[in-house]
Amino acid sequence: MARRHASLYFFDGNIALMASNDFGEKTVFRVHQSILSHYSTVFADMLALPPVPEAETYDDVPLVCLPDNAEEIESLLKAIYLPRFPPLYPRLSRCAPRTIYHLLNLSNKYEINELRREVVQQLEADWPTSLARWDQLEGEIAGLADPDSDSMRCLLPEDPLPDPASAIQLARECQVPTILPAAFYHLSRLSIRCQPDKASSICKPRRRTANWGLLTAGDLRCLLLGREGLLQVTDSMLTTEASDVDGQIHWMVDRCRGSQRVEVMNNIREECQSTPDILATLRGHATTEELLTCQICRRMIRDRLKQVRYALWTKLPSLFQLEN
Ligand SMILES: [Zn+2]
Repeated sequence: MARRHASLYFFDGNIALMASNDFGEKTVFRVHQSILSHYSTVFADMLALPPVPEAETYDDVPLVCLPDNAEEIESLLKAIYLPRFPPLYPRLSRCAPRTIYHLLNLSNKYEINELRREVVQQLEADWPTSLARWDQLEGEIAGLADPDSDSMRCLLPEDPLPDPASAIQLARECQVPTILPAAFYHLSRLSIRCQPDKASSICKPRRRTANWGLLTAGDLRCLLLGREGLLQVTDSMLTTEASDVDGQIHWMVDRCRGSQRVEVMNNIREECQSTPDILATLRGHATTEELLTCQICRRMIRDRLKQVRYALWTKLPSLFQLEN
């Protein structure tokens, strides 16, 4: 015996959708063909077919039995029908709620592009797709972790911020590849000892952790390749060639020949070989006022570091082998 859904059963609905939950209990949703067709090209095509005379009905309207889980259908119809304001779930949550999996699975299957776009946008807010947004988010998170800030988040013993391993799992299962580069980069700067159930002094001050157990062997391989690749690219891009030193003499500034610049660059290059977070290290040097060089050299160093950061960011998909 099927039960009618408490809220998603409209008296003027002109189609009934039936689905079962994990226990085989059936739920009927009475909704509108026009709404389903508006959002989903798959439903639009299906409902455009002429009705067959022996088709099943429920409460005098055509009945469609769906193979999907009733909870997933409920999440989907709620997202379509019930009034709400974005976001779909609070920003910077540790894991995307189950509803997000439901919405992505069904919007992939039924080609509900508008809804999928909305979900993906929200995921990309936590796992940025551009370096500018990544930097912005890092600044925001640094503010949350600041013990002087009035945020309650920093007082929580557990890491409340997005978990990269869960994000990678979701991206793989629901085909959201755009969040993978940021998630892998973030994962690459964490120690494997930083786990949510183990309070560790290594994880301070930010206490970022990962559910390492969720990663597949393939993802761990991507992680190792990416870590190595980041070091290699940074090292080769920061290596100063001899021509850099002698080529230009900054006559304006006490005949600077750029040797200090080379020294500064070499120090930064060495520091990058041992830092877990190359993007942050480079950013620190690119924005500091304390470079012991002439002004022209200082500008050259800054420009170079910005170039390297940008190059690293754009290479993340290939470094972590995320491209296929
Ligand atoms: Zn100079």
